[in-house]
Amino acid sequence: MVSRVIPVEEFDLVIFGGTGDLARRKILPGLFRRFLSNQMPAGSRIIGAARTDMDSDGYRQMIREAIAEFGGDESKDKECIEKFVAQLHYIPVDAKGTGGWEELHDLIRFEVVNAFYFSVAPSLFGDLAERLHSFKIADDDSRVVVEKPFGRDLETAKALNATLAEHFDESQIYRIDHYLGKETVQNLMAVRFGNMLFEPLWNNHYVDHIQITVAETVGVGGRGAYYDQSGAMRDMVQNHLMQLLCLIAMESPSMFDADAVRDEKLKVIRALQAVEPHHIVRGQYDANKDSPSYRDDAEDPRSHTESFVALRCEIANWRWAGVPFYLRTGKKLKARSSEIIVVFKDIGHSIFPGDEKRHRNILSIQLQPNEGMQLQVTIKEPGPGGMRLIDVPLDMTFAEALGPDAEDSTDAYERLIMDVIRGNQTLFMRGDEVEAAWAWTDPLIEGWKARGDVPKLYDQGSSGPEDALMLMHREGRRWHEIKE
Ligand code: NAD
Repeated sequence: MVSRVIPVEEFDLVIFGGTGDLARRKILPGLFRRFLSNQMPAGSRIIGAARTDMDSDGYRQMIREAIAEFGGDESKDKECIEKFVAQLHYIPVDAKGTGGWEELHDLIRFEVVNAFYFSVAPSLFGDLAERLHSFKIADDDSRVVVEKPFGRDLETAKALNATLAEHFDESQIYRIDHYLGKETVQNLMAVRFGNMLFEPLWNNHYVDHIQITVAETVGVGGRGAYYDQSGAMRDMVQNHLMQLLCLIAMESPSMFDADAVRDEKLKVIRALQAVEPHHIVRGQYDANKDSPSYRDDAEDPRSHTESFVALRCEIANWRWAGVPFYLRTGKKLKARSSEIIVVFKDIGHSIFPGDEKRHRNILSIQLQPNEGMQLQVTIKEPGPGGMRLIDVPLDMTFAEALGPDAEDSTDAYERLIMDVIRGNQTLFMRGDEVEAAWAWTDPLIEGWKARGDVPKLYDQGSSGPEDALMLMHREGRRWHEIKE
């Protein structure tokens, strides 16, 4: 197959926080993979900028080691690694002071695309934005990339948006949600809007309900103190699950263009109904003989922060009225698995004598650890013995049909960074989307606080608290099993 990769222009990419965990684990190894696939034009430069005092040679060594540790199979080619690190530079910069900024100004070229990745704590975003301007390092064509968490509630998100807006136009701001960079998430849009088959059924006449699960096996471990200020609702639902919900539920944009797509996503968030307290279940993982409890990890024996949340919500518009959307996410669950399940209504009447089963089509979309898509269809069980029906999955991943291209392992980060260089904001959250998501999330969190809600304990390696299962059972439905 001929690959149709849109070329990128020569660029200077500055990574503030270039020595941090995210830069070493994801951003630089991702850029290296792009370099290997000829997506880094000659002359392009990556400039690490952080508080650590070191020179460019020291930084190159740090990134050699990061690629060796996190770069996967591609990290073996020493010659390529050397060519890549030759394009790296480093400047020690203090976000809160004046050190390093003049040097950065002298290094940056305005005749090529320039982008600034804020891979630092959000409390530094304002300082960075302000200095990029006062030292005349960024201009009206520069792009800034900001990491989650984007605020911890509506008020802080608004303040962050206002800070960035003082120095940058919305068209220059790229708010990363790496879930949007996943191949299958984009494939979801291709399936919905590139086929006649699905869209006519994609509504409350034919869809019984939709499930979105993001399950993790890890606990909060060493990040306990940080996570305890956040919890599953803020850390996962407000951003990742909400974005998936939007892509599943949005109307067709008039074209695949950044604002057209984001306008439709925003309408979904604004149409989300408030969630009744009995439609939310919060949980915390309990201790077992080998592993500490959430509260031990969070170092707060009285913490009421949730490591699990499941909820049922509805979207008040003509397409979705009456269709429940069940969302759940949690830590220390039985498997690492992110998936979206669209359960269509059952056929209502069977013409086949003796066929008691209620057949229904189910579209399953896996996002991680493996990406794939299957459609459950009902067919005749092969062989003699009359008309017996079975449900079988029709694999829509098409790995075999498309060959190696279908197994494009492009990590979400590298795809998104290249979109920044191309100036394509489609897969990034707009400021109003983030604020609308907080406006929906805040009252739920405030409600728990006001009621003194205590999360239910659940066993590590389980599917979460019993009450989360009941959320669906009492409506005659059940969660798709969490499995890898
Ligand atoms: P980190 O603590 O590992 O690294 C922080 C970086 O910021 C370091 O390079 C440090 O030198 C730099 N820094 C700190 N203070 C500075 C200052 N005053 N001036 C200049 N540089 C300064 O953090 P991280 O885990 O890499 O996270 C970075 C950002 O990405 C955070 O906003 C975090 O919430 C977000 N994030 C991280 C991950 C992850 O997996 N690590 C995932 C999603 C989002």
